[in-house]
Amino acid sequence: MSSPERRAQRLLIVDDEGVSRLLLGALFRDECELMEAGDGRTALAAAAAAGAAPPDLILLDILLPDMDGREVCRRLKEDAATQDIPVIFVSAVADEAEQARAFELGAVDYIVKPFHRDIVRARVRLHLRLKRQSDLLERLAALDALTEIGNRRAFEQNFDTALAQGDRAPLALAMIDVDLFKQYNDSLGHAAGDECLRRVAAALAAAAGVLGGSVARYGGEEFACILPGINADTAAGAAERLRTAVLDLGLPHPHGLPGALLSASVGIATCAAPAPAYRARLLATADAALYRAKQLGRNRVEVADAAVAQG
Ligand code: GH3
Ligand code: MG
Ligand code: MG
Repeated sequence: MSSPERRAQRLLIVDDEGVSRLLLGALFRDECELMEAGDGRTALAAAAAAGAAPPDLILLDILLPDMDGREVCRRLKEDAATQDIPVIFVSAVADEAEQARAFELGAVDYIVKPFHRDIVRARVRLHLRLKRQSDLLERLAALDALTEIGNRRAFEQNFDTALAQGDRAPLALAMIDVDLFKQYNDSLGHAAGDECLRRVAAALAAAAGVLGGSVARYGGEEFACILPGINADTAAGAAERLRTAVLDLGLPHPHGLPGALLSASVGIATCAAPAPAYRARLLATADAALYRAKQLGRNRVEVADAAVAQG
């Protein structure tokens, strides 16, 4: 939780003049990881960085050889992957209408060249601090407080993303529900129930990781697992892996089904060509499959194809 927060922040300096990049870079060399671009296209590529290591803040010159800095900013704000990266314009153009326009484009600040070192430093530091705080809030807001895996909100977001990446077809959704958990709570106490959910969450997260997916706490003792690349042929195996991850914890359950152990039931729905339109149907199909797994005796998996099943 804390390690990604303490990493050095990345500052992307976009300026066609090497001397300007050098001057600005010198101000932040000791506190930031510096990235540089001499034109708009390179800047956009560096900002997108395929999700790997995008900048935390961009210092953007307006006059660039290939495209206007304003155009760069407009494109950054258009793309969901880069729109949250704060942009500060650094320009020799002092015109007030120009500055106002920069803010309209989504910039957080405008610095006029030639700049005063201490003022630039203060303004950049302020926006880096704000970025660090909003990153932290974003992560906390996606985390389930008890189990420290993703929460319902994170699930909704990840599910939308997975559905939108239709080219990564196929996609499976598994719903996992702990069996007879009310009895577990009733006989061992709520605190033991909480600890049990933490263990189950960690086991499911590890199994989901192996399967190339992600898991979130959907609510109560129910978890949702998004599995890109899992199709109708591989779904049963994937669901089995999730089921055994819980069983293999070996947690004693006084009323447990298989040899007095805690178990879980899994309903998994597959979709050969995922798209946002399949959202409700995938959820309903996985839910119905989970219901069947419960009806058929629990500690088992049920598979369904969302394209075939009744939405
Ligand atoms: P089934 O096999 O049909 O799923 O039965 P179940 O007992 O697991 O299902 P039911 O929905 O009847 O009970 C769920 C229980 O999960 C009841 C609730 O108190 C417990 N629970 C939900 N969230 C938490 C939690 O955060 N901590 C603890 N300790 N218990 C929780
Ligand atoms: Mg249950
Ligand atoms: Mg339940």
